[in-house]
Amino acid sequence: MRAIDLIIKKRNGDILKRDEIKYFIKGYVGGKIPDYQMSAMLMAIYFKGMNIKETKYLTMEMVNSGSIVDLSSIPGIKVDKHSTGGVGDTTTLALAPMVAAAGVPVAKMSGRGLGHTGGTIDKLEAIEGFKTEISLDKFIKIVKKIGVSVISPTSNLAPADKKLYALRDVTGTIDSIPLIVSSIMSKKIAAGTDKIVLDVTTGSGAFMKDYKDSIKLAKIMVEIGVELGKETIAVISNMEEPLGFAIGNSLEVKEAIDTLKEKGPEDLRNLCLILGAYMLKLGGIAKTIQEGEIRLIDVLRKGLAFKKFKEMVVEHGGNVKVAENTELLPSAKYCFKLKGKKSGYIQKIDSRLVGKSAMLLGAGREEKESRIDLSVGIVLKKKVGSKTTSNEVLAEVYYNNPEKLEDAKRVLFSSFKIGREKPEKLPLILATVDKEGIKEFTD
Ligand code: URA
Ligand code: CA
Repeated sequence: MRAIDLIIKKRNGDILKRDEIKYFIKGYVGGKIPDYQMSAMLMAIYFKGMNIKETKYLTMEMVNSGSIVDLSSIPGIKVDKHSTGGVGDTTTLALAPMVAAAGVPVAKMSGRGLGHTGGTIDKLEAIEGFKTEISLDKFIKIVKKIGVSVISPTSNLAPADKKLYALRDVTGTIDSIPLIVSSIMSKKIAAGTDKIVLDVTTGSGAFMKDYKDSIKLAKIMVEIGVELGKETIAVISNMEEPLGFAIGNSLEVKEAIDTLKEKGPEDLRNLCLILGAYMLKLGGIAKTIQEGEIRLIDVLRKGLAFKKFKEMVVEHGGNVKVAENTELLPSAKYCFKLKGKKSGYIQKIDSRLVGKSAMLLGAGREEKESRIDLSVGIVLKKKVGSKTTSNEVLAEVYYNNPEKLEDAKRVLFSSFKIGREKPEKLPLILATVDKEGIKEFTD
């Protein structure tokens, strides 16, 4: 077999066989196939696509490039959740302890932020002392003891994806459905979970800006999950405007804690309830979604989810006082209040631009190696549909470096569209996709 022949085969739109995909991935990870040939192959896949079988084999080979985490010593059905990325997406921080408190073990590996999207691992590190890079043994021990742990991926988790993602990032081949599906699903499968709940975001701040593309992505991820023996369901959620009010690491930890204390934003709470209800259903704790939601509302009301969060902080070596007093989180030196210039209703808050503004302040990474400032970020004072008058505060900007403020302010201001009519608000959940099919809630 030769790499060049396989590149031509895909370029011509033919179907690659399992052993051919294996040869290519193994060769690339092993250093026998150079970046330039893999780049050509990625571009051929980008233009010609892959069918379900090819996507499945690609996912399997990416899983096999490393080792699979063995979670079998943890009793119960392990259910993982993955979001395809968003802005101000505080979900995991609140959801993981909620679900664990309701009885489904959550052994989760999360990523760091890149570009305009944030990452859970960075957010957790805003809690003084919280360790996210711990051994697998310790990780499993924590889940056995308290039912939840969230850590950074181990270095041997689908290493093919690390190498491929970096190459896709610089070759214009990120937004290809088979490449996204194999990237995400290989990591979930290698992380050893039994079942998967996907939050496929859609809208300006998401990977998939178009609803139809999001449905397509969700359908294929569900199909691949099921093909590989991991029951998977997907929720299509609205990422047209940022989730909740807070965007930025410390600010989002505070928002998650508020949510666990039932004082958080409504959209974040509702998304956690629906994703969590599916996790409880897949985990065998609830018979229906409604039953799952009722259970989660109950663990919130009784303070059990917040208690679980504090247990997780303690087990990870973090300062638990932070949970009781969020003023102990790293905080920015200055706050600027961004005011509107028009009266009317907020028509749109472009989440990509809000994410970019937070990144310019230092809350996110422009490049993989950039250092982030955990204390800075944005707190929205208005959401789509809110009424506003000229000179009202639209958002608070928390910053340390006055030189970074101007650009961040300009980008943030441009994310708001204000108009006279009250806009129709998109629902938070647009659809769900499972092995039975698609259920849409868009009318
Ligand atoms: N997230 C991933 O992990 N991989 C992708 O390709 C896209 C989103
Ligand atoms: Ca948020």
